[in-house]
Formats: sequence, C-alpha cells, structure tokens
Amino acid sequence: MHDYSELEEFLNAQGIRFDSDVTLKEYTTFRLGGAAKVFVQPRHADELALLQAWLAGHALPVFLLGGGSNLLVSDEGFAGVVIHPQFGEEPRILHQSTDRLQVYVPASARAPLAGKKISAKGFAGLEFLTTIPGHFGGSVIQNAGCYGHELKDSLVNVELAHQGNAQTLPNIACDFRYRDSLFKRDSSYWIAGATLELPKGDAGAIEARIAEYKARRIASQPKNRRSAGSIFKNPPADISDKKAWQLIEAANLRGVKEGGAEISAEHCNFIVNNGHATAADVYKLIRLAEQRVFEATGVRLEREVVLVGNFAEL
Ligand SMILES: Cc1cc2nc3c(=O)[nH]c(=O)nc-3n(C[C@H](O)[C@H](O)[C@H](O)COP(=O)(O)OP(=O)(O)OC[C@H]3O[C@@H](n4cnc5c(N)ncnc54)[C@H](O)[C@@H]3O)c2cc1C
Repeated sequence: MHDYSELEEFLNAQGIRFDSDVTLKEYTTFRLGGAAKVFVQPRHADELALLQAWLAGHALPVFLLGGGSNLLVSDEGFAGVVIHPQFGEEPRILHQSTDRLQVYVPASARAPLAGKKISAKGFAGLEFLTTIPGHFGGSVIQNAGCYGHELKDSLVNVELAHQGNAQTLPNIACDFRYRDSLFKRDSSYWIAGATLELPKGDAGAIEARIAEYKARRIASQPKNRRSAGSIFKNPPADISDKKAWQLIEAANLRGVKEGGAEISAEHCNFIVNNGHATAADVYKLIRLAEQRVFEATGVRLEREVVLVGNFAEL
C-alpha cells in the first residue's frame, strides 16, 4: 500500500487539479476498468514537468492516460497515480504560407477533431486521423495510422517532459515504427504536444479522402460496440504474410464469447464489450487468441492494446 498524502500536499500546494478514487471506465472506449487511486489533470506542459520531477523522487506507480482508446484497465483499477493531461483542444498555427502549414497540437486534443480542423484549412496528410479515436498525445505514442498513412509522416517534433524537464525531440529521435515509438517502449517520456507540417492540398480531394476513410471504417468495423480497436499488431512480413485478423480467423475464433466479451464476428482482431463484459472477460479472450493462434499457425501475436493494472492471476 502506498501513501498518497505527500502527493496530495504537493498537488494542493502547486494548485494542480486532482481527485481520489476515480473510476476509469468512463475514460476508456471499452467502458471497462476499476478506479485510479489518484487522478491528476495538469493544465499545461509546465505542470506536467513539475509533476514528473516530483514523482521521480517518490516510488509511486504512474500511468499516463490519453483518450483511453487503446487500453484495457483491470477490474480492480490502477493502484497508483493516473495523469490525464488537460492542455486544451485547439491546434495552434505556427506558420502558414500558400504551400505549407506548421501547426502545434496539444496532447489532450481529440485526435479526430484535430485532424478535421486542420484538414478543413486545405492542408493534406491528416485525413486518416479523422477516423482514429483517442487524444493526440496517444496517437503520437502509438504512431497511429491507417490506410497507408502514419502520424510520423507529418510530424516535425514532439514536446515532452523527460527526467523532470520540458524537452523537444525531433522526429528522427522518436524512433517511430509501426504502432510504436521510443515513447511506447519507455514510459518515462510524457507527451505535451507535437508540431506537424503539412503541404497544401486540394480541398475537394481532402474532403473526398475523409469521406472514403469514414465509409471504409463503417464497412469493416463492429457497429455500436465498445472496443479498443485492434487488439494485436499485424505481424511483420518475415514472420507471417497474414494479418492478425486472418490468423485469429484461422484459429477458428471469430465470434467466440467469454462472459460479456466477444471476439468480434465483424472484425476478429477486435474484442467487443457486449454491454456487460468485465476486463477479466476481455483478458481471457486475449490470452485465448494468443494461445490458439500459436497452436494453429506458430505465430506469436504481439499486443497493440495496452494493459493497465493487475491481470496476473487471471
Ligand atoms: C474503434 C477503434 C478504432 C481504432 N482504429 C485505429 C487505427 O486505425 N489505427 C491506429 O493506429 N489505432 C487505432 N485505434 C487505437 C487507438 O485509437 C489509437 O492507438 C490512439 O492513438 C490511442 O490514443 P489514446 O489517446 O486513446 O491513448 P490511450 O489509450 O489513452 O493510451 C495509449 C498509450 O499511450 C500512452 N499515453 C497516452 N497519452 C500519453 C501522453 N500524453 N504521454 C505519454 N504517454 C501517453 C498511455 O500511457 C498508453 O501506453 C482504434 C481504437 C478504436 C477504439
């Protein structure tokens, strides 16, 4: 058991907003999970760095929460400090010319909304982001992408807190890969926001791409079901020429249920909450898919979804 009284004193003294015993399920797209012991909502990047510096000297478990669209939080919740940045929604234009736009997007901006606002200015490259849930900081961590585009393609640099200091890392230093980055591998980097650069595009073509991507989503993804998107990454080509959903299908798992959770019959790399699932139900299906796919195909699936809290005894 940790003692949070010193943290609460610090947060009160600094005027940083926080609450205790906050249920996390409202903050996740799965709508699953128990409570966080302390839930902190810093309002700007300086507060984030200050918080990081203080926590570095105190052995408390910490988790950074964005839009919760790639998470499975355990039913017992997270016995530690959850940090949920509240740096605002608005992309800030840094430089605009007839052919290019440089824009800073805060970590807490809703990614699809930021994608829409920037695309509406007639600059191209973020059309794909209009279809990906979550906050912008989370999309940097994951190098979010779809339909042949990834966030890294437009990203100039990332503003973050590291070792208690505010820093800016250029794209090349972020080691972006498929659904991966330096930050996903090392949780000591806390994202405050990032600068993007986009070329001028044809407004009609931008709008058409947004509509096309939206239609493709509607056609391929589970409807009216809570999920965290793809549970597993597609394996690299040297491991398998099949996508994760094809491997799960090959293991005969399409539509398989556990309690209130289901390996989606519509898209079997999604697990859906049918309304009364527990995080434990979802976790059991994740483990089942890992085991059965390995037995059926010899491929070890790699998780894209991030587990928060304790699942060890399930
Ligand atoms: C229906 C659906 C469809 C989806 N489709 C796609 C898709 O096509 N492509 C795709 O890439 N993803 C997809 N996803 C997954 C998810 O939406 C993205 O990965 C998204 O970018 C995650 O952002 P988030 O803010 O929700 O992150 P969260 O789920 O809150 O967190 C994810 C990880 O990022 C870390 N994190 C979050 N914010 C910060 C921060 N400020 N600093 C440091 N660490 C942070 C968390 O600690 C965690 O490790 C989909 C999800 C759903 C529900």
